[in-house]
Amino acid sequence: MRVGVVGGGQLGRMLGLAGLPLGLEFVFLDPSPEAPAAAVGEHITAAFDEQGAIAELAARCDVVTYEFENVDVESLAAAAGDTPVYPPPGALATAQDRRNEKLAFEAAGIPVAPWQTVDSRDDLEAACRGIGLPLIVKTRRLGYDGKGQHRILAEADIPAAWEALAGVPLLAERLVAFDREVSVIGSRGADGTLACYSLTRNVHRDGILHTSCAPAADAGLQARAEAHLRALVERLDYRGTIAIEFFVAGGRLFGNEFAPRVHNSGHWTIEGAACSQFENHLRAICGLPAGDCRTRGHAGMLNLIGAMPAPAGVLALPDAHLHDYGKSPRPGRKLGHVTVVADSPEERDRRLTRLEGLIAAGTENRSL
Ligand code: AMP
Repeated sequence: MRVGVVGGGQLGRMLGLAGLPLGLEFVFLDPSPEAPAAAVGEHITAAFDEQGAIAELAARCDVVTYEFENVDVESLAAAAGDTPVYPPPGALATAQDRRNEKLAFEAAGIPVAPWQTVDSRDDLEAACRGIGLPLIVKTRRLGYDGKGQHRILAEADIPAAWEALAGVPLLAERLVAFDREVSVIGSRGADGTLACYSLTRNVHRDGILHTSCAPAADAGLQARAEAHLRALVERLDYRGTIAIEFFVAGGRLFGNEFAPRVHNSGHWTIEGAACSQFENHLRAICGLPAGDCRTRGHAGMLNLIGAMPAPAGVLALPDAHLHDYGKSPRPGRKLGHVTVVADSPEERDRRLTRLEGLIAAGTENRSL
């Protein structure tokens, strides 16, 4: 089968790396001539909204999927014509607007922090009174990696928040004093069965994912997260890999957002699970049986942001796996990741700490 992928970033590249052994072929649509996924398939170099680009992708493939969320859903569905698109475009439309996302969580019985839409300065002030402070205001569409967000801790912060974000539809929500952040990732196949990975604990820095560790939870939390994921995928009539990010506060789970695609917090599954989130996504969209989601030991993933470490130092660590996305360095840009796998959480954490030390030292050396 030939798989068409809208987006040719690192997620596309890792989909290709997972699919080539299965005999799958790939065509990626991405505007950048340096798209990382071009190394593992054909590349249509065109803007996502360029007339005929998605239609060409679909015409050349048996199934279309996406690794990039900011595409126009209607033109995606229309341009694909007779070629099936998975995950269903309706799920993408829901994830593209934080209001629809919250409504989907609520309809699936997933608790969320109190929230309100904001379209004017008056709305923002009403939200501060109604929800209470502290809160966080986010753009409803096109936000990622903490961009398009502003915290309001005291009333005096309202003017700056409005100044920074005004002009686009917003959503205000209570700032959750979470104990930790976790995500649950699963893959739903053509027959509706859901294969679920171990809950992953995520640490963000400056709104960008820094580390992910799995397995992360006791059996009770895992079962609740899986039940939430199952309820959501059934409502969305979902097919493919999906991730929900939660806050854990006082032992309770609050849904933050979901991604209708393979997710950064699931990169550890390449070496840390029997079958990766990437392979399972492909199996699901191609109508193949799901692979085993069982965790292999204790995995930790560290994102490489802005600069790459010297490979030899990283690879000298036991059971460390370096992924270089082949991107040119830029501050704040995800350039690669490293996954370490160990027999115990303590050993996993020791390896992650050594890795962080190595990277910090490498960055210092480069700046000398
Ligand atoms: P998001 O783009 O919604 O995933 O937000 C990026 C990060 O900002 C999250 O992973 C959290 O660390 C933080 N954040 C977002 N919303 C909230 C909230 N309501 N309460 C506390 N922290 C939040």
